[in-house]
Amino acid sequence: MNQYIETYKDFRKKLKAYEYVMWLIGWDQETEAPLQSVEYRSKQFQVLAEEAYKYESDPKFVEAIEKLYENLDQLDPDLKVEIKKANKELRIIKKVPKDEYIAYQVLVQSGSHVWVQAKEKDDFEMFAPTLEKIVEFNRKLVKYLETPEMKGYDILLDMYEEGMGIKEYDAFFNTLKDELVPFVLEVTAIKQKFNRRLTKAVYPTDKQREFSHYLMKVFNYDLERGLLKESAHPFTSGVSSTDTRITTHYHEDNFISSIFSTIHEMGHGIYELQNDPKYDDTALHGGTSMGIHESQSRMYENMIGRSLAFWKVHYPKLVELFPKQLKDISVDEFYRFINTAKRSLIRIEADELTYALHVMVRYELEKSLINGRLKVKDLPKKWKTLMGQYVGKRPTTDKEGVLQDIHWSGGMFGYFPTYALGSAYAAQIYHAMNKDFNIEEAILNNDIAKINAWAKEHIHKFAQTKTPKEIMQIATHEDFNPQYYVDYLKNKFKN
Ligand SMILES: [Zn+2]
Repeated sequence: MNQYIETYKDFRKKLKAYEYVMWLIGWDQETEAPLQSVEYRSKQFQVLAEEAYKYESDPKFVEAIEKLYENLDQLDPDLKVEIKKANKELRIIKKVPKDEYIAYQVLVQSGSHVWVQAKEKDDFEMFAPTLEKIVEFNRKLVKYLETPEMKGYDILLDMYEEGMGIKEYDAFFNTLKDELVPFVLEVTAIKQKFNRRLTKAVYPTDKQREFSHYLMKVFNYDLERGLLKESAHPFTSGVSSTDTRITTHYHEDNFISSIFSTIHEMGHGIYELQNDPKYDDTALHGGTSMGIHESQSRMYENMIGRSLAFWKVHYPKLVELFPKQLKDISVDEFYRFINTAKRSLIRIEADELTYALHVMVRYELEKSLINGRLKVKDLPKKWKTLMGQYVGKRPTTDKEGVLQDIHWSGGMFGYFPTYALGSAYAAQIYHAMNKDFNIEEAILNNDIAKINAWAKEHIHKFAQTKTPKEIMQIATHEDFNPQYYVDYLKNKFKN
């Protein structure tokens, strides 16, 4: 067995190095690189990606994984988890014909390009033929990968959130449909009014930047192991427990956007920074699933960052930076302003209350596309109908409807539901943490470190060694239960 362990670790070390360089190139591309550097960079990236693929698919590496998988009992617990994951990833190499898979990679590469243009022109017809091919491939993919235990859309859902399939998501979304949709339609029927300076004043970027750095101190974001830059769309990018970076974006006419982007990304970042460092050199560093990752960003952003307690402590600093803009605007008004719920069309701009309903629209559409009950050509119409039913607002254009998200153009089916799931996990996790200590009190004492420490102990330190289900058990002593989420939202947003 030892020789296979050695081979495995040897390849892993090389792959880690490639991964690191490609990660660095990607980070540079999104944050610093000049516009014209794209072509030169792509060429180098291509070479590295091909070399890395050679290692990944090397028969010696594959053999080592297979042999170790046959002898899981002889491995230490961490390596066992790692080999299980590695073996699962071999599915694609083994079961999908190589030329079909490569053709698909090329298709999704150009897919996002076609999508950008179609979105710009508000022309679904332009995107439809590409999307049809992508859907077709995914329908074939699930056939190739199906097992007696798992079929169809479940296979795609499982790729992003282990253990969550149609049955589990249906139960989750049905709870939202029954309990949240009527509540949302009621709450959003009333339009709230705010001081015009909150929406109309100009908030200079340099002051916003200063506030973002202030927030990093508040959340104890370790600047020796991470940093903050700017990018078109905020994101977190980490490679180890000593290097996890985040970005934000400043809009002078929408100052709260950068505040909550920064906190959201810090949630993702703190998760990875608090992984046990022993996983840095393994394939287990990082978040265990998209849903658990999103639970951390949403918990920090919405449950901590959008709480009244938080702003009782930090609003004075904001007023100090924007004295004219926020003059005579009370912390209570500010709190109501950052927690306004309204019927809107764009998912990424949606508020905390309506967000999951935007996701539910996508879940139902994906499910029907993959099981063949919905044709791509009927997608825009169905989108509008579901938006009307769940969010209470129908888009008049496809740009603000079915063409708004990049995901499907890249073949990402099964990803969307994890966004809603993350928010729901967050509510349950927060509830459990609040039993261990009074979170509001910690926030009022400006002691976010206490929250970080709890999250580290119950979630973060495990990196990818526990499944989402296991994490929920460790953190909350229960299986996932969407009722916590519904109760939390109803309590926060009741009029
Ligand atoms: Zn996120």
